[in-house]
Amino acid sequence: MKIDILGCGSAFSLLNNTSAIRVIDNAGYQLLIDCGPTIPRALWQRGLEVNDIDALFFTHIHPDHCTGLTALLNHWKSFQRTKPLIIWSQPAHRPALLQLANLANWPESGLCFAIDWRDSTPEWRWQNWLLRTAFTHHEIPNLALRIEAPGATLFYSGDGRPTPESIALMAGADLAFQECASATALPDDASHGDFPDCLALFTRLKLPALGLYHCHDCARPILAQACQPHPGLFVSEEGMTFELPLRRGETR
Ligand SMILES: [Zn+2]
Repeated sequence: MKIDILGCGSAFSLLNNTSAIRVIDNAGYQLLIDCGPTIPRALWQRGLEVNDIDALFFTHIHPDHCTGLTALLNHWKSFQRTKPLIIWSQPAHRPALLQLANLANWPESGLCFAIDWRDSTPEWRWQNWLLRTAFTHHEIPNLALRIEAPGATLFYSGDGRPTPESIALMAGADLAFQECASATALPDDASHGDFPDCLALFTRLKLPALGLYHCHDCARPILAQACQPHPGLFVSEEGMTFELPLRRGETR
């Protein structure tokens, strides 16, 4: 399994793309997790073919996680994508995503490829993956995602503070990504992650590799320094790629 960091920034970052990753399994199936406003360009820069991405998963629909959908679908329409596209989201979030999708070809309706809208559930199978979700604590409901593929387990938190349910999905991952807005502790009922909490999880779960992302711009250098004494704990950066299983001692 390969992981391509498309963006690692917070909603209004001046430095980074909005947060999203691309997951490619050994059979070549590709999943895009989230698609904020700067993600279509990050994908175009990679020179992908229009049929390369098979599916999208939305953790939640704060604009920095979903408003790139319109431009991405419009691009695929303009360059004649033919492959059906699966989109997983929370059921309550689908009407808003449909509006974004409709705008991709407005005022005409429909695209030149089918969209297979599916509800995110606690667990489902796709290809040879097992996908599991759990809610984090965020301003709006956000689903963390765990992907188990042969030989590789990945965890991606989406936004929000870890919950016992999301921590259970993080445990045992070969590579995990946790939203970490702040370098200093936030209140327990905050809706974002913080470094002391992430470090405690990294240690307690004995994670081989934990990437912090969606960090506020001002927190990034402090976080990078705070990670240094802890091999395997790192600040995620766009352009990083990972191949799972990681080799011993490797975090990037
Ligand atoms: Zn959010």
